[in-house]
Amino acid sequence: MDGNARATHRPHPHIRRMTSTCPLCAQPTDPANTPFCSRRCKDRDLLQWLGEGYRLPGTQIDPDGLDSGATPD
Ligand SMILES: [Zn+2]
Repeated sequence: MDGNARATHRPHPHIRRMTSTCPLCAQPTDPANTPFCSRRCKDRDLLQWLGEGYRLPGTQIDPDGLDSGATPD
């Protein structure tokens, strides 16, 4: 009878979402940039990873690269 109508109300099932967070800033992960929260953190991590091999351009000035005016003509 009426008892059936009450049974339709069910509590929300607790969906276990992979509450992964950004390893850099601990913000919620963006599906588009998983496992990071944003493109910025994704690039930052990539740069850090690459940074172990070489320095970023701009931080190191190569004396030979400077234009000292000695242009062989
Ligand atoms: Zn982040």
